[in-house]
Amino acid sequence: MNYTEQLQRIFGFSTFRANQEEIVQAILAGRDVFAVMPTGGGKSLCYQLPASMMKGTCLVISPLISLMKDQVDAANAFGMDAGLLNSTLSNAEQHEVMTRLQEGLYDLLYLSPERLALPGFLERLRRAPLSFVAVDEAHCVSEWGHDFRPDYLALSCLKQELPGVPITAFTATATQRVQEDIIRRLALSKPLMTRASFDRPNLFYQVQLRDQVNSQIEAVIRAHPDEAGIVYRLSRADVEKTATWLQKNGIKALPYHAGLDKQTRSRNQEAFNRDEVQVVVATVAFGMGIDKSNVRFVIHGDLPKSMEGYYQETGRAGRDGEPALCLLLYSRGDYFRLRPFVDQLPDERERQLGLAQLSRMMDFAEKPVCRRRAVLRYFDEDYAPDNCGSCDICTHGVETVDATTEAQMVMSAVYRSGQRFGAGHIVDIVYGARTGRITALGHDQLKTYGVGRERGKRFWRQLIDSMLSQGLLKSEGDPYPLLHITVAGEEVLFGREKFVTHRMLADTSEGKKGRSEELAYDPQLFALLKKLRRDMAEKEGVPPYILFSDKSLHQMSSLMPQTPDALLAVNGVGQMKLERYGKPFLEIIGNYLFDNPEAFKHQKSSKVIVPSVARKQTRGQTLEETLRLAETGLSVEEIAAARELKTSTIASHIGELLQQGKGLDVDRYVDREVRSAMTELFKSHGLFRLKPIVDGMKGRAGYDQAHIVRGFLVSQGWKIEEVNDYAA
Ligand code: ADP
Ligand code: ZN
Repeated sequence: MNYTEQLQRIFGFSTFRANQEEIVQAILAGRDVFAVMPTGGGKSLCYQLPASMMKGTCLVISPLISLMKDQVDAANAFGMDAGLLNSTLSNAEQHEVMTRLQEGLYDLLYLSPERLALPGFLERLRRAPLSFVAVDEAHCVSEWGHDFRPDYLALSCLKQELPGVPITAFTATATQRVQEDIIRRLALSKPLMTRASFDRPNLFYQVQLRDQVNSQIEAVIRAHPDEAGIVYRLSRADVEKTATWLQKNGIKALPYHAGLDKQTRSRNQEAFNRDEVQVVVATVAFGMGIDKSNVRFVIHGDLPKSMEGYYQETGRAGRDGEPALCLLLYSRGDYFRLRPFVDQLPDERERQLGLAQLSRMMDFAEKPVCRRRAVLRYFDEDYAPDNCGSCDICTHGVETVDATTEAQMVMSAVYRSGQRFGAGHIVDIVYGARTGRITALGHDQLKTYGVGRERGKRFWRQLIDSMLSQGLLKSEGDPYPLLHITVAGEEVLFGREKFVTHRMLADTSEGKKGRSEELAYDPQLFALLKKLRRDMAEKEGVPPYILFSDKSLHQMSSLMPQTPDALLAVNGVGQMKLERYGKPFLEIIGNYLFDNPEAFKHQKSSKVIVPSVARKQTRGQTLEETLRLAETGLSVEEIAAARELKTSTIASHIGELLQQGKGLDVDRYVDREVRSAMTELFKSHGLFRLKPIVDGMKGRAGYDQAHIVRGFLVSQGWKIEEVNDYAA
């Protein structure tokens, strides 16, 4: 099996992100690696993928014990064999881990750095079969870095103590000086050096003047119901104030700062991680321990002290690659509030540096320059495009705009739908989205339906934010906040007052490219899938995003797959996750479509709704394309080559086409002998899982053939019954 097949099979991804492939290749070739990748860039895959393919265990050195368990759970959910060794284990457990390590039973073993300094430990490692070492957060080894950890110095001896074991180092931040330091300390030998771009295309950067800070923050949260977010405040006192304000207004929010005791801090962080609260309000102390991939917004209630910090903090949004908002609220006074922090620095040079960073941050907030360009400039990266399409400046940076007409459209939609819906649904009406819910409620018949189609959804979303913060609308209700028109709103609705919004509303109308592949999805189905994910995650004792990312759920509620093969086409669904978790998700989708047959129409027309996915084919179209080529007599490999897709994708298409009874000849794709051997195996294992079939074939056939034979069997009337251990 080659590494691209493995990428699909384990992780369910069809392509590598920037730099991942070259790193994977280097590791497989036994080289040392030094890689800089931004947060969310996909570092873990770089070592997990080769670890799953190489003999022996990959040791992962990770600084935070609190993160290890989640990392191990995530790897195990992909079907890898991962374990951890740290001080939270009992002696007996540690002993067992070491025995398993000696026997080579792990793909990955996570260790804390101080472990290496324990007497006799390196000795034992030397006797274990190791594939390579992956040092995560490698900048912790450098005294010049901002997170220096003395424990990490223990890593200096690795090269000498484990001769012949390649060492790979990963970090999200490294200046030239830190980089040299890491390479020297770890004694990397002729490493592959890579540095991925720090651009995070799915983040939308926005800056606004601070006015009523808590209401502004609240309005943004209200506009993102059910979505996780982080609010950063400068001082502990402000953290407490904002958290209390939000709680009082019915938003599930918890504080996090260094003044809270350790237990409270980790309890609050855990609750956030597990989607039990929507928002954490924190000082910058809330940091490295966040591995949550579905953070949809990060709000800074105050100006950060440096671009470095701003980048790291906003970087916690949207790690799953789905669109996320980074909003900075600032006032000119912030500069003077922050000055004392800088002035009290002991060293004159550091003071200079601190002041320069502060001015730079202020410039960022005030200057009408593309935010993305400004952020990347800080990392010495040139951002070439004129318009990033995903910051407030590029999407129409104006000081104030008269948006009376637009506000009237929104309020008319609120009014005509009976003041009984939340912001998301109102946006859908104004924008003219074709969701199952819109059709079911007949809201496509409203006079305001689709009047705002030429503006992006984001525009409407932000307009509503602005209307909320200016008091034209009120958002009330738990757990589903509904929009009402206020008295002030009526003044505008009936044309007696104008509505002028704060500057900079995003306008992602045609002509300005949206940078994320937003699929139109059915929010109701999405909510159901999310709930299922939460319930299952709770049962398994892992954070929800470990099962499937938000992105995967979005795609499921857009493509609405109804067969295991179709589910495999969803980003982030690999073979193992399909087999472990797929069944209940397919069930929910099936039931949903049964109850809402009209929703399927929405699935089919998804490409019409959002212009940015017009290039993307729906599942139906891509199947048709494969069918057309198959009918001309091309083999799976030939079709794959012609369509520049992987053979595994085409094989799953053929399986599905057979299943749909499209009249393809199964014998053209699979030997009769193989087919009958597989049929026997399917008889005893059921159709749901392919792994036992492929294992049972002992190398005589692989997943491609299994897909095809299964499709054939279904066409013969076999049922895909569950032999799925989740239910057990
Ligand atoms: P970090 O670099 O911050 O450690 P992670 O390894 O946690 O980032 O990856 C961030 C997210 O990106 C995860 O949700 C991961 O599943 C996703 N991801 C990583 N590689 C790919 C890829 N090739 N295609 C799609 N998503 C990916
Ligand atoms: Zn821009």
